[in-house]
Amino acid sequence: MTTTLTSEDLYQRVKHVVPAVEWATMAEDAEAILRLKRERNAVILAHNYMTPEIFHAVADITGDSLALAREATDVDADVIVLAGVHFMAETAKLLNPSKTVLIPDLRSGCSLAESITADDVRASTTAIERRIHPEDLPAYRASQQQAAAALTRWHLEFRVCLPLQGVRWRQGDASPSRDPDNGVVWHGFVTDITDRKRAELELRELAATDALTNLPNRRHFMSRIAAELTRLQRHGGQGSAVLMCDLDHFKRINDTWGHAIGDGVLQHFASMLRAQLREIDLVGRIGGEEFAVVLPDTSIESAHLFARDVQHRIADTPYLSDGLQVPLTVSIGISALHAKDDHAELALSRSDRALYYAKQRGRNRIESVFSR
Ligand code: GH3
Ligand code: MG
Ligand code: MG
Repeated sequence: MTTTLTSEDLYQRVKHVVPAVEWATMAEDAEAILRLKRERNAVILAHNYMTPEIFHAVADITGDSLALAREATDVDADVIVLAGVHFMAETAKLLNPSKTVLIPDLRSGCSLAESITADDVRASTTAIERRIHPEDLPAYRASQQQAAAALTRWHLEFRVCLPLQGVRWRQGDASPSRDPDNGVVWHGFVTDITDRKRAELELRELAATDALTNLPNRRHFMSRIAAELTRLQRHGGQGSAVLMCDLDHFKRINDTWGHAIGDGVLQHFASMLRAQLREIDLVGRIGGEEFAVVLPDTSIESAHLFARDVQHRIADTPYLSDGLQVPLTVSIGISALHAKDDHAELALSRSDRALYYAKQRGRNRIESVFSR
């Protein structure tokens, strides 16, 4: 690709939007871009959003990320210059890592002419990787290497940390193929999926939460206690205590004051229980008026003290509604979750058995089951 444009020509094109004093700082880069186009088979792609006008003056193709990504996969050029920097950085990596892809950044004073080296291409990869969320970087690298090695489709959802926007979610989709020089050419693009991820997260939370009490529901609690068992099996520890709490004569509350008051009581108990838990404890509403608690690395004796606290607190704080006072008691069954348990359900059924004894022996009691 040849051009006879001079930087003065460029200035004439952009002077209505770029003040002369600003142009002075850009002229050198503009020259470099023109030189690149003269001397190398270069194509300049410019993002049409927040792109310094200088790039529009020199660009061969302008458009949004997606349009540019598509254009760039078809471009027959040795050098692809992506102007528009941050928006294009991830796309650039995908487009064609085996070719020279430049990401000039006028604002950071990076001179284009100096960046046409393999080191700079590598550096631009580093710059891209610096933007990837540290927790997602290993998966990002591994998945790309794997896709490149097996020539299979690359698909990944990952987070990036952007200077102005903060953490955003990205989805990368690309297919690698071999080029004649045995390099890997990527065809694909990266899109912003932050809004979708947010909606997914809300849905997942909704699906995991009991609507009445806002506590984790049974299904979610079961998956968390299963994870707690895996943790115990991996790292050992003294075992964790599992408590089953069941409100006493709850049916009577419904029958006496109505279902709405019953609902209020459940909410009251749930928030009192939650207030007594530490960050690491697990809780769930696993039945109508049944709540389960896991206290990690806690002996049954300590769990007893916790259970007593719960009992005292609920006895001291009856549910109040419109001048109505609903006295409450709770029965609690305790057992331990051991590393040797095959399933977390085993501990839950032991605690259930202990709860059964507490009910049988008169309610408003705490009972424990020590053995399997
Ligand atoms: P016990 O002391 O033996 O535990 O007796 P109980 O009456 O508490 O236990 P039972 O299992 O006989 O009754 C539980 C009641 O809880 C029956 C059911 O209608 C009621 N219930 C279950 N879910 C809800 C709910 O979401 N809201 C209300 N208001 N009541 C509920
Ligand atoms: Mg009950
Ligand atoms: Mg019950």
